[in-house]
Amino acid sequence: MGLTLSQPEASNRVSEIVVVPPRLGRNEPCHCGSGTKYKRCCREQDESLRRELRGAALPEWIEGSRSKLRQFEKYACNVFDLPGLLGSLKDTRRRPKIPTFDVVNSLFHTAVLRIPSINALEGDLKTEDFQKLIGRPPTPEVKAFSADVVANVLDQLELEGIRNANEDVIHQAERNKAFREDYGALRCVAIDGWEPLSSYKRHCPHCLVRKVKRKGADGETEVVEQYYHSYVVALLLGPVIDVVLGIEPVRSEEALRDTDPEHEGHEGELTAGRRLIDWLHETYGGFIDAIVGDALYANGPVMTQLTNHGYGGFLVLKKEKDEPLKDALKLWEIEGPCQSCAHAERKEHLEFWDIDEIETLDSYQGKIRAVRAVVTKPDQEKPTTWCFAIIGERARQISPQTALRIIRARWHIENTAFHQWTKYWNLSHVFRHGENALSALLLLWTLAFNLLQLFIYRRLGRSRRPKDPTDTIRNIVELMLREVALLPEPIPWGTLLLDTS
Ligand SMILES: [Zn+2]
Ligand SMILES: [Zn+2]
Repeated sequence: MGLTLSQPEASNRVSEIVVVPPRLGRNEPCHCGSGTKYKRCCREQDESLRRELRGAALPEWIEGSRSKLRQFEKYACNVFDLPGLLGSLKDTRRRPKIPTFDVVNSLFHTAVLRIPSINALEGDLKTEDFQKLIGRPPTPEVKAFSADVVANVLDQLELEGIRNANEDVIHQAERNKAFREDYGALRCVAIDGWEPLSSYKRHCPHCLVRKVKRKGADGETEVVEQYYHSYVVALLLGPVIDVVLGIEPVRSEEALRDTDPEHEGHEGELTAGRRLIDWLHETYGGFIDAIVGDALYANGPVMTQLTNHGYGGFLVLKKEKDEPLKDALKLWEIEGPCQSCAHAERKEHLEFWDIDEIETLDSYQGKIRAVRAVVTKPDQEKPTTWCFAIIGERARQISPQTALRIIRARWHIENTAFHQWTKYWNLSHVFRHGENALSALLLLWTLAFNLLQLFIYRRLGRSRRPKDPTDTIRNIVELMLREVALLPEPIPWGTLLLDTS
């Protein structure tokens, strides 16, 4: 299939008629009819064809520019085929007047530039600057399209396509060796629950509901229902760069009844988290070495699941009465600390207790190593204690220092992801309430978040400031926002977009 296009105006290189292959998910059967998965068949070849065609289409005012905004667009287009990624997204509106591409492109840039709401976006859609940014001819004071159109698209956007686009970005970045730094030769992924929004009033059929106590207007405590949406997020941890690999919603009773009409109650984070682990394995396989999780995941069934996938695990231990921590505490007591050392750079003193080959869980057949680290800093009154389990052959062999770095890096998911998303990316603001809209939004924001991370830490080579890693990215985004006003003409997304099929 694919779109046949002739581009005599673009350059001599592509003056003949070229058949552009359709964009497919990596795991879909190849378009050539071989029956093989696309990623193992024609994908590579198609990608290089796309790259060649794209190279011809970027105008000089983007290609040769030093503006951060234009450099970002160039990077996203040339390295990751952003037009192709956005162009592959589909929604189920009937006979839409506004192409899906224009709407998702405006949403992508809403995420990149941190525009706070759909209404604010609607305001921007009236400005010449933003119209040029999304490739529409400037029509000052006439909005390119309305907030209703954006809301409609979010309600009806197909999520699988956005997931595929995110996967494509990760795989391309991996091929370009963007994730070459790791922790002790292990590539670690943190998973954790995140609740971006809750409300007493607004709700949808897929909201999770809980009873909470709050003070009423008369000062009396009352019990009311609170509605919320919750997700489990997987973040690839890096010393230099963190990117989001996947997001899985915690399903409500209503959502679970789609497959089981009798189902009662919503599921918990653990169930969604375990589904996410399976999905990560299916999607990224051996690209991941170990999963890092909090105490919720430190149980036999999760350890068994990780082992079956060939993954190691670094899992926080909290409950002193539960295994394996109960046993570890006894053994640490008997053996005493195994190592103590000073970390000059961080001005810390570290002491480790380290026991391997614990086999006290009935629900896990493998061996567990348990490490306790006590970190003392001269400027802190109390030392910090970290207890965690390590499973998996390779993971169990790393030094206690590296293991501690991994378990501490778990906080990246709080600091560089959740905190930043709520504080600067306005994700606790409800852009559009509804199950599909929320997931679509989070996935689109993930695409923008990952591309910005890659652009800033890889292309621009900025170093990550340990104090506040969100500062660097914030400054660059502010600069990019100002540069929207300097676009000389519309970005030619139409010519960059090869496959409209
Ligand atoms: Zn093929
Ligand atoms: Zn809801």
